[in-house]
Amino acid sequence: MLVLDGKIASHAIKESLKTQVASIVQSGKRAPHLAAILVGNNGASETYVASKVKNCAEIGFESTLIRLEANVTEAVLLATIEELNNNDLIDGILVQLPLPKHISEQKVIEAINPHKDVDGFHPTSAGKLVQGLPTFIPATPYGIVLMLEHFNITTKGKHAVIIGRSNIVGRPMSILLSSNSPFGNCTVTICHSHTPNLKDICLQGDILVAALGRPEFVTADMVKDGAVVIDVGITRVEDASAKKGFRIKGDVAYNEVALKASAITPVPGGVGLMTIAGLLKNTLQAYLSNE
Ligand code: NAD
Repeated sequence: MLVLDGKIASHAIKESLKTQVASIVQSGKRAPHLAAILVGNNGASETYVASKVKNCAEIGFESTLIRLEANVTEAVLLATIEELNNNDLIDGILVQLPLPKHISEQKVIEAINPHKDVDGFHPTSAGKLVQGLPTFIPATPYGIVLMLEHFNITTKGKHAVIIGRSNIVGRPMSILLSSNSPFGNCTVTICHSHTPNLKDICLQGDILVAALGRPEFVTADMVKDGAVVIDVGITRVEDASAKKGFRIKGDVAYNEVALKASAITPVPGGVGLMTIAGLLKNTLQAYLSNE
């Protein structure tokens, strides 16, 4: 059984990005610049944004973190995005989700200039992805494809089963794996909360992607022998014995599923790290096409 270690795969990608940025800067040009907007102080969002900023610094990108109060108005947030859209020194913009209830996430996503949409959530990016055109691929599915590529896991002709149909993970994952591309050409089944016989469908998956946000939902009896199991889930589960008072759990019961899988991603240390690698690659792509 192969552990699909996100530390190893993301390190390789970051080293390559670091080299590219160094040569850009050596040639006298500015470094790529990512702007992140964080609204409020949700603990998980704080952690994700801090990690994105830290990773930018590690590979030589500039980054700007804009923090807005939880009660900021939608209008102020949209105006902040517009300023970044108009700033030629900013290549990529991301707004950390979720947003407070009084702000429309859809409006915010649509306010980002598609040329700077490094999260790949804008309808323009999503539409291009569906049509197989070059675009920003949402960072998590992109990171998963990069992970498969790093570990030489072939997808052609395989049956991929995806649990979850969100716009940020499940749906774009289904498009990538079914596309006519080196890490596509799967037959894809996408499952969701209204799917009957979920276990029977999961048992058919040569590749099983769990992205539903329910800790340890996928158990060994749902997994085909030799399947490649990708665990996207990240849930904070209270645990008084843990230093922070919680533990991070994936959507897969790792210990038992690992005995059946041919390859599996750990949580933490798997897809989460690849998501950041995907975001960094998108930011470099935005920079290069802005030049
Ligand atoms: P979401 O809540 O938007 O979507 C969940 C999906 O799962 C929905 O489509 C729903 O229909 C489906 N679902 C829920 N319960 C189900 C069930 N019992 N059976 C079948 N399908 C079911 O979530 P999301 O934003 O796609 O995130 C999913 C998980 O992935 C969360 O734990 C999230 O924290 C995590 N996540 C991780 C990363 C990463 O970098 N590793 C990135 C994004 C999201």
